[in-house]
Amino acid sequence: MVSPRVREQSVHPRLQSGARARPLSFTVRRMGSVLPPNLEQARLTIARVHNRLMIGLLLGLFVYAFVCVLVLPRPWKGATLWLIFIPIAALEFYGIFKIFEFDKVLSRRLGFVCPHCQAPLYEPRGFINVTGLCPKCRKSVVSR
Ligand SMILES: [Zn+2]
Repeated sequence: MVSPRVREQSVHPRLQSGARARPLSFTVRRMGSVLPPNLEQARLTIARVHNRLMIGLLLGLFVYAFVCVLVLPRPWKGATLWLIFIPIAALEFYGIFKIFEFDKVLSRRLGFVCPHCQAPLYEPRGFINVTGLCPKCRKSVVSR
C-alpha cells in the first residue's frame, strides 16, 4: 500500500514540469467537478446508466424499423409508413420518459439528492458538477 505522501511526491514532479500546474488544486482539476467525490461518483454512475439506456433505446427502435422494412409487404402505401413511424415515435417518447424517471430513482437510491429540498440532482444536460447548484431550488449542494 503506497502512502498518500509517497503518491503525492511521485505526482508532483510531473506537474511541476508544466509551467501553470497548481498541485494544490490537482484533485479538483482532475475530477473536473466541484462536487465531493462521493456525489461525483454517483453522478458519473447515473450518467453511465442513462447513456447506456439511451443507446439501448435507439438500437431497439432501429431494430424495430429494420424488421418493419423486411416484413411489411410492398409496395408501401401511406398507411404502411404510419404503421412504422407512429410506434417508433410513441416508443421513443415513452422510452425517454421512462429513462428520465429512472434517473430520479437512481439519484435517490445513490443518495444523489439535494440536502436542502431533497430533489434528485441528476439532469442529463445539467451542470451541477460545474456550478454545484441544485437544479430545483438553486441552493449550493457543496457548501454546508
Ligand atoms: Zn434543492
